[in-house]
Amino acid sequence: MKRRIAILGSTGSIGTQALEVIASNPDLFEAEVLTAHSNAALLIEQAKTFKPNAVAIADESKYAEVKEALKDEPIKVFGGYNSIVQLMSLDSIDMVLTAMVGFSGLEPTIAAIKNKKNIALANKETLVVAGDIVTKLALENNVSVYPVDSEHSAIFQCLFGEHHNPIEKIILTASGGPFRGRKRTDLESVTRDQALKHPNWTMGAKITIDSASLMNKGLEIIEAKWLFDLTPSQIEVVVHPQSIIHSLVQFTDGSMKAQMGLPDMKLPIQVAMAFPNRIKSDFPRFNFMDYPQLTFEQPDTETFRCLGLAQHAMKEGGNLPCIMNAANEVAVAAFLNKELRFLEIAEVIEQVMQTMSFIAKPSLDDYRQCDLEARALTKEAVGVKSL
Ligand code: NDP
Ligand code: MG
Repeated sequence: MKRRIAILGSTGSIGTQALEVIASNPDLFEAEVLTAHSNAALLIEQAKTFKPNAVAIADESKYAEVKEALKDEPIKVFGGYNSIVQLMSLDSIDMVLTAMVGFSGLEPTIAAIKNKKNIALANKETLVVAGDIVTKLALENNVSVYPVDSEHSAIFQCLFGEHHNPIEKIILTASGGPFRGRKRTDLESVTRDQALKHPNWTMGAKITIDSASLMNKGLEIIEAKWLFDLTPSQIEVVVHPQSIIHSLVQFTDGSMKAQMGLPDMKLPIQVAMAFPNRIKSDFPRFNFMDYPQLTFEQPDTETFRCLGLAQHAMKEGGNLPCIMNAANEVAVAAFLNKELRFLEIAEVIEQVMQTMSFIAKPSLDDYRQCDLEARALTKEAVGVKSL
């Protein structure tokens, strides 16, 4: 039986790589649903190639174009963000790969879990915003959440066969991004294009900026807390510029397990999609002789303040990670629009985190409200009306 996958965000970096995995393993996987925000041209092309049951485009102004282009295909076409959420109840979906970016991933992920679909989770923001609610729902609905993020996939792979053994701590590796080793004065005038040049990974724009600011690692420690049920003191970060060791687990006997390989997101994507099996692949293999030195450094939280903000948000919990995430999304968009300087990203996020009222046990509606409020406050702080 082929596993029928709904790819939310099929036109993005993770989405297109997931389709490559499907194309290489036609006996194992089928694309059942594909969704995009506004890239109609690529969604149409993907639909013609992969012949999914349904496609949805969130931007309603693009619906007519997609509908017209696919009129001779037996493919259902939907428009609007809510249609993505509604599609999660399709009986024919076996697994949902959440590869949308930011808060937009939350509602469809919740709908998918309520419909008892297993999740391959790339959209880390879902767990950052509402990890308590999402993990509880997954448990109640007997749904598995398989991590796609490379670090979390590494931890998950280290835990194969170890589920009964307690974890002492985990160590998430970070490449350090394009500005590793720089100090605050060096970063005052860095540009959007410099920040978009990641040394090891090619990814969507938002996560690439998050990697440059170390907010990505900040989001990942919170993601790890929820995925592996850890306390903040059990989660460490080490900078490892070569991105070969994808992360490590230390057990209570002191033994450490690491998962290694060349940086290529197709591997964690297919690990999540094929669980519990490993699929043969022809991805390039790692060779120690090409990497005579694997190096490690302490993260510089003085310069890269976003990581410290996320550590604080993780410890405080409640609605603080949700506020931080929303402020970060707006600040990163403003930076990408050249309306905010790089170092101002952390400043604005901190300001918004300090301004909003703390809620210790938020409901889903509280999270929705906090997200909106934090966005509005961040836009005000940035002075941008266009976002
Ligand atoms: P991209 O920006 O490349 O792609 C995002 C996808 O989501 C696109 O298909 C986009 O559609 C769609 N999308 C964006 N906003 C909305 C919205 N409001 N409603 C519906 N669809 C939307 O992102 P990435 O693939 O890089 O990242 C996706 C997620 O995976 C993020 O949460 C990221 O943190 C995580 N991740 C990514 C990694 C990577 O290597 N890229 C690694 C680890 C995690 P359109 O193309 O039409 O705009
Ligand atoms: Mg990662």
